[in-house]
Amino acid sequence: AVPVVAVVGRPNVGKSTLVNRIIGRRQAVVEDVPGVTRDRVAYDANWIGREFTVVDTGGWEPDAKDRAAAIARQAEAAIATADVVLFVVDAMIGATDDDEKAVKMLRRSKKPVLLVANKVDNQARELEAHALWSLGLGQPYPISALHGRGSGELLDAVLAAF
Ligand code: GDP
Ligand code: MG
Repeated sequence: AVPVVAVVGRPNVGKSTLVNRIIGRRQAVVEDVPGVTRDRVAYDANWIGREFTVVDTGGWEPDAKDRAAAIARQAEAAIATADVVLFVVDAMIGATDDDEKAVKMLRRSKKPVLLVANKVDNQARELEAHALWSLGLGQPYPISALHGRGSGELLDAVLAAF
């Protein structure tokens, strides 16, 4: 079976932008409005000849109600079926309480998780990425999903995690 990579995180951290970067086309819907991706959406991807499925999800929030709760449950379902999880954090904002709660949920899933420090658009922002060691998920992978910075190193690590 083709390995599955689920991309999860709070609303607006750049999950869909990263998915587009991984699949090499603009197919996942990117919006400045949080919570645009309601359900999990799967795409075919490959990196250096290795095929996998990448799943975009809606923003995960703790203690969500109504529609937001349904979106969070969809993200959890995507995690349950994934071989590797990319947990995306906005390095410009830093780790929030909701990110900490997401880490607890991810630990319960017992899935391999790679910590993605997104919006590291330039060298100066590497410091913000480094601060995300505090989440206890190991090495943060600094990337700019928007500009492509660091995405090769991240994908190498994804393949190594299968
Ligand atoms: P999602 O809700 O997590 O799927 O986030 P989106 O992919 O829809 O992106 C939310 C906003 O963050 C959009 O305005 C993106 O253009 C912006 N964004 C995503 N990745 C980056 C990045 O690497 N750098 C910067 N500066 N902005 C980004
Ligand atoms: Mg999205």
